[in-house]
Amino acid sequence: MLEKLQKELQINEVTLVAVSKTKPNEAILELYNKGQRIFGENRVQELVQKEESLPKDIQWHAIGHLQRNKVKYIAPFISLIHSVESIRLLEEINKEAKKNDRIIHCLLQFKIAEEDSKFGLQLGEIKDYLQSESFKNQKNTKIVGVMGMATFTDDEQQVRNEFKQLKSIFGSLKQEVFPSDPDFKEISMGMSGDYRIAMEEGSTMVRIGSLLFGER
Ligand SMILES: *Cc1c(COP(=O)(O)O)cnc(C)c1O
Repeated sequence: MLEKLQKELQINEVTLVAVSKTKPNEAILELYNKGQRIFGENRVQELVQKEESLPKDIQWHAIGHLQRNKVKYIAPFISLIHSVESIRLLEEINKEAKKNDRIIHCLLQFKIAEEDSKFGLQLGEIKDYLQSESFKNQKNTKIVGVMGMATFTDDEQQVRNEFKQLKSIFGSLKQEVFPSDPDFKEISMGMSGDYRIAMEEGSTMVRIGSLLFGER
């Protein structure tokens, strides 16, 4: 499955985040030995344990809801945080990154799904913040794009519309806040069930778990 998926993604220049949450180290190593280096996890404790015991050239991505008081545990090594869903969380990441003398790359998570359960920022509030002095003084985070999750539904048109919405949020931020920043380029959208639609709608990074590792 990995090779086939990698080929399909390569054609579209889309990055694969292999979502290994709940899966054992052996399953991760199996993909690692086939060349996969980016893995995504949603629980801090699991992330820390896996980082300690697996090869050091793995790039770990945090993809799920992240509590502010847990940022300190992943700040020393995390390579990308997909789930920045509040300004306070972004400020906490900056603080912990600074302590570790690092610049942590982040994606702003927007709520595009209808379901209440999905976390995310509102475009208006974050735009104001990104243009404020307090954001400009943050030297230890780097915003490299946006992330979103579509509604879990069979309605393909709905999913497509939600991805279009994220693409348009990205475009608006690119134009108004990051016009001359080549690093602001990622749109993290698409999971096992909807990654093809996401790619058609402009995804640059897909987060795929069950398709690679089997059902959880
Ligand atoms: C679990 C998870 C995924 C992967 O889901 P699959 O349907 O198994 O591909 C992607 N993104 C987030 C935020 C997740 O929590």
